[in-house]
Amino acid sequence: MRILSGIQPSGTIHIGNYFGMIKKMIESQDNGELFAFLASYHALTSVKDKEALEKNTYEAAINFLALGMDPEKSTFWVQHDVKEVLELYWILSNHTSMGLLERAHSYKDKTARGIVAGHGLFSYPVLMAADILLFDSNIVPVGKDQIQHVEMTRDIATSFNHAYGKEIFILPEAKVDEVVATVPGTDGAKMSKSYNNTIDMFTSAKQRKKQVMGIVTDSKELDEPKEWENCNIYTLCKLFMNENELKDLQKRYATPGEGYGHFKMTLLEKINEYFAPYEEKREYYLNNKKEVREILELGANKARKIASAKIEIIRDAIGLI
Ligand code: ATP
Ligand code: MG
Repeated sequence: MRILSGIQPSGTIHIGNYFGMIKKMIESQDNGELFAFLASYHALTSVKDKEALEKNTYEAAINFLALGMDPEKSTFWVQHDVKEVLELYWILSNHTSMGLLERAHSYKDKTARGIVAGHGLFSYPVLMAADILLFDSNIVPVGKDQIQHVEMTRDIATSFNHAYGKEIFILPEAKVDEVVATVPGTDGAKMSKSYNNTIDMFTSAKQRKKQVMGIVTDSKELDEPKEWENCNIYTLCKLFMNENELKDLQKRYATPGEGYGHFKMTLLEKINEYFAPYEEKREYYLNNKKEVREILELGANKARKIASAKIEIIRDAIGLI
């Protein structure tokens, strides 16, 4: 069973990425063959700054290693180190209709937010399909926002297989954790690196406090009872608390006397507590850049071996001799 997972180094990793995908991805190392990459080509759709991209890529690598990515067990690389994916991207582009891409929610959401869409952003589901199909992936663990892209990958693969009358590509399946689904950001919309509404996983105490304090709530006063059902603070607390802790929190919402600031402090403590155990390992890699580079090189070599064998099969099937 091959599991493939990618994340864009397009900004600091946030708790939505963690609960939506990274956590499952790390755990999946015990259930199958994990292929995980830092999607640097994808990040170009939003990052147009050399220093920022380099820094983000490097930090993402460190964060993944700190969180338990095991480069011996798994294949862990940076997307642009295995260029075969770009060749496949072009090949697959010729099996992708414009209509399919125009229906992509993620693209529509981003343009609706005023993000100016270039061809890269429009066609990124095709690059994602190439990522998945190049490695014969069976399972793709994703957040809810990416299910549609995995479905598009299946459509593209089906159309390709049909065109050449051969089962060149395996049809992948998206795996979503229904409990988590979509983690809301501080403004209540999907938490997203490009929406400026994140709570970051690894950041300074000051910055994290600022982010948590920025969570949007209604304007109920201290002496009013509050509703936990639709409160962003409570929804985020669910990620960090057990049943009993949540019951206590519900009581605090119902009892006048405390304000949202208090609930935010409770959430902040929980988040700090949760990620503290990873800080030490993260420090280690921060101080051992060379080792991080070696790990990524080793991963790229492993991935390239598989990618180049697959691209030969594809070239052969379509007449690129
Ligand atoms: P961008 O704004 O650049 O698209 P992003 O924050 O949406 O960044 P991605 O790199 O697109 O992050 O996604 C990485 C993984 O994290 C994907 O599997 C995605 O489904 C998951 N993910 C992203 N945001 C959330 C969220 N708010 N809740 C749950 N999962 C999420
Ligand atoms: Mg996204």
